[in-house]
Amino acid sequence: MSLASAIRETYLGFKSLLIGMRITGREALKPSLTSQYPHDTLKMPARFRGHIQLVLDPATGRPRCTACGLCVKACPSGCIDLDGLKREGEKKKSVSRYDLDFSMCSLCGSCVEVCPSDAIDFSKQYNVVSFNREQFAHMDLYAKIETESRLWAQTHPQPTPAAAVATTAAVVPAAGSAPSPAPSATKPAPAAVAIDPDITIIAPARAAPSNVPATKPPTAPAPTAAPQSDAASTAATNPGAQ
Ligand code: SF4
Ligand code: SF4
Repeated sequence: MSLASAIRETYLGFKSLLIGMRITGREALKPSLTSQYPHDTLKMPARFRGHIQLVLDPATGRPRCTACGLCVKACPSGCIDLDGLKREGEKKKSVSRYDLDFSMCSLCGSCVEVCPSDAIDFSKQYNVVSFNREQFAHMDLYAKIETESRLWAQTHPQPTPAAAVATTAAVVPAAGSAPSPAPSATKPAPAAVAIDPDITIIAPARAAPSNVPATKPPTAPAPTAAPQSDAASTAATNPGAQ
């Protein structure tokens, strides 16, 4: 090998090394695409179809399902079995049991499309695995939505009728005295905030957040059941609910 050839080979080798290092450096600075599953929680795309789930009404904190049964008729695999009842103080029937046989579900979406109340959608739950398919034969979707409803009630405290009466009496000025400004308890209840529909709660109900104010016991006899007790009474009607 001549000297010129050796220099040329050395130059080309060095140039190739620099090109490779430039590509390596550029890729090293890009964000990582690898997720450390199962330690990382994966964000499923919008069109991901997990098992179906009941949807909570963000205004009332109650399931939207009216137990009309259209999803039962639309399901080609006979996966859905439900019950409903008309509760005290409600104008329409509402769901009291909703069982899904996920071992038969083809995720076709017919139930979601036919629902007139937008009361069911697909969850983003991807960790649904087992060695025994029987575990998916009776998924209690009503118990799950009741847990979400209880959490909603804890984060959206409503004034009880007894508290409203006490508040009204407190703001009425005594005879001959100047009217006093209304206390802070007369503030309206916080506006309902929509719950993330992607929320999936499979654990038992958690304790209330520490920033939720404790409800004071009413000083006057409570005339009727308070709104928050609805979820508890509903759960009592369904042994499957947690
Ligand atoms: S997605 Fe299809 S198969 Fe599954 S429960 Fe709904 S209608 Fe039935
Ligand atoms: S999920 Fe929808 S279609 Fe099915 S019973 Fe409830 S309201 Fe009717």
